[in-house]
Amino acid sequence: MFLSFTMSGLFAGTSLERPVTCERCGKVLDECACPRSASGAVCGPKDQSPRVRREKRRGKWCTVVAGLDADATDLKALLKALRTGLGTGGGITDGELILQGDHRDAVVARLCEMGYRAKPAGG
Ligand SMILES: [Zn+2]
Repeated sequence: MFLSFTMSGLFAGTSLERPVTCERCGKVLDECACPRSASGAVCGPKDQSPRVRREKRRGKWCTVVAGLDADATDLKALLKALRTGLGTGGGITDGELILQGDHRDAVVARLCEMGYRAKPAGG
């Protein structure tokens, strides 16, 4: 009886020792692996709305992905996945992914497949 009382006390939030759990996965924060932004908020792909635009750099078209959270997102891994998927080169500049060539629609589609709320931007 005493045990069950203690347990319910935990979840009622009356104990100071109540573990702080993640609002997304429900795990205690030490075990939570959810991506988070610099402010500590859960920030997974579906919490992000990257903008994908075309841009001419040094006379060549490239595709720029802006608006990703650099703290919550593994930009290098994402860039690699896009480069491999599109069969093109690219890099990261100031937190933006730059892919060679005009692949705006393909990049939007791939980001959406990964769960991002990606949108095309610009002309
Ligand atoms: Zn979590």
